[in-house]
Amino acid sequence: MAKPAAGPGQYDVIIIGAGHNGLTAAAYLAMAGRQVLMLERRELVGGCAVTEEVDPELAPGCRVSTASYIASMLRPSIIRDLKLEAHGLRMVACEPSVQAAFDDHDVVAWWPDEPRMRTELERIAPQDGAAFFAAEAELKRLAAYLQPFFLEAPPDVHQSGLHRLPEMWRLYRRFKGLSGDDISGLLRFLTGSLGDFLDNRFASDKLKRLILSNSLYGKHGGPYQPGTAMGLLFHLLSGGDAGQQAWQGHVIGGMGAITQAMRSACEALGVEIRTNAEVAAINSHRGVASGVTLTSGTSIDAKLVVSNADPKRTFLGLVAASELPADFRRAVADIRMNGPAGKVNFVLSEEPRVNGMPAARSKAQRALFTLIPTLQEAEDNYNSCRRGELPQRLWVDCVLASNVDSTLAPEGRHMLTCFVQYLPYRLRNAAWQEQREVLGDRVTQLIGQFAPNVPAAVIARRVYTPLDLEQTFGITEGNIFHGDINMAQLFFMRPVPGWADYATPIQGLYLCGAGTHPGGGVTGAPGFNAARRILADRR
Ligand SMILES: Cc1cc2nc3c(=O)[nH]c(=O)nc-3n(C[C@H](O)[C@H](O)[C@H](O)COP(=O)(O)OP(=O)(O)OC[C@H]3O[C@@H](n4cnc5c(N)ncnc54)[C@H](O)[C@@H]3O)c2cc1C
Repeated sequence: MAKPAAGPGQYDVIIIGAGHNGLTAAAYLAMAGRQVLMLERRELVGGCAVTEEVDPELAPGCRVSTASYIASMLRPSIIRDLKLEAHGLRMVACEPSVQAAFDDHDVVAWWPDEPRMRTELERIAPQDGAAFFAAEAELKRLAAYLQPFFLEAPPDVHQSGLHRLPEMWRLYRRFKGLSGDDISGLLRFLTGSLGDFLDNRFASDKLKRLILSNSLYGKHGGPYQPGTAMGLLFHLLSGGDAGQQAWQGHVIGGMGAITQAMRSACEALGVEIRTNAEVAAINSHRGVASGVTLTSGTSIDAKLVVSNADPKRTFLGLVAASELPADFRRAVADIRMNGPAGKVNFVLSEEPRVNGMPAARSKAQRALFTLIPTLQEAEDNYNSCRRGELPQRLWVDCVLASNVDSTLAPEGRHMLTCFVQYLPYRLRNAAWQEQREVLGDRVTQLIGQFAPNVPAAVIARRVYTPLDLEQTFGITEGNIFHGDINMAQLFFMRPVPGWADYATPIQGLYLCGAGTHPGGGVTGAPGFNAARRILADRR
């Protein structure tokens, strides 16, 4: 039964932002009996996991996942604890999980099902079949060692004396089954380059590009840069309601259906949610948080404040500089964000007819196709992006969501959502306001090379540059993970060394968003871990 709403000044916790991590934290805190108020700056909850109309005037009722678009790592325990299925969540596995369209009119699928994948490999890379399955087994085994760290705080390497023992014991328990070879393997994947791994293991260009197309989304670094191989491990963590390794799924109703189910779960637990309520400042005095002040000027008190906003936005935007140690502010300012991705969403009058799409593919199997460059082109793209230029050969991942979900658009309309990898946050010689539609035109043109009926079928289009992502979703520099996923910004270094356990230098202020361990993606893990830390502290 829902708890009665708390009156002013009675909140135990204020959560700034109603992204999926804020909603997750709110639900667990409310389950533990806390009075929670959520304040979201946008008119709807969900942060980067929302479903919205592309263009209400040109295409009314045509909705799509505006930003994040594929569910892969949402923790099964969170789905169960929040009873998200009872609150309307429904996901269907992507089959194939990846599908690449090539210039020679070949379409290559990555099937989750082994016999089917074997047949595909016999067709495109007969010499690489055994190496592919050996690498997949190795990666799955190694990813399984990382998995338990998802739903717990990272090891605290800053503990000393006797306090260090439980941390060492925790690490030992997690890694006790690892052989020496596994340890070398883990380190190689966490620090090595994806390009070298692919070149060393496989001969087929198409197979390498197929693997590339699922391994670097949203990350900094071309495939030959150190640290890019870790995407291979992250994509093999488990997901879906059954916790299957390498699971990827479409959410019926778009990604917003996850956060709408979370909202409904939170409300049933008595959480109060206010939208159009932007926080301008976190109120604190002598290092102790006492509440927030909204941009409207209203102040609200609470015993604790939890921020779902990213670390830069929280500490450099909402907390007075005088309240934080200078070295902490410097460390936050150094977090690497800086793009590097965007999105273009389309309403089409026809389904894209992709050159070479096998006639036997069902409608659901035609729901995704990636326009993947070669490894060298991807490397060159990233280098252009670093120079502040639009890459030559764009890398575009397309999901035709309406092929699996008839709730998104009326009959005769098709919803195509496209992720663009490697875009600079700052353009060198131009402003994004002028280049936004240039990017949209280039994405449309590229899709047209692979699906020639698309350009003439566009009814509406909405382009999100990295700057638009920042302005729409409140993510600093448009970084989709609230901070790049690299070894210098993971585990006990996330968001900054010494503060990886959700607490902050301000007493009573916590973080719960993707900028904390274990990082970005729609997982719910940072929100869960933050709630657990808060409850442990209050005890
Ligand atoms: C274009 C794009 C594509 C992506 N694709 C995928 C994908 O396919 N699969 C996947 O798993 N992940 C994907 N991601 C990443 C994933 O969506 C994010 O990492 C994740 O949603 C972050 O969740 P969060 O709850 O931590 O933060 P957010 O979703 O960023 O939510 C934070 C919330 O805080 C609010 N807020 C910020 N400041 C204030 C303030 N001052 N006052 C009040 N409210 C405030 C924001 O409005 C926002 O609602 C994608 C992200 C983007 C942008």
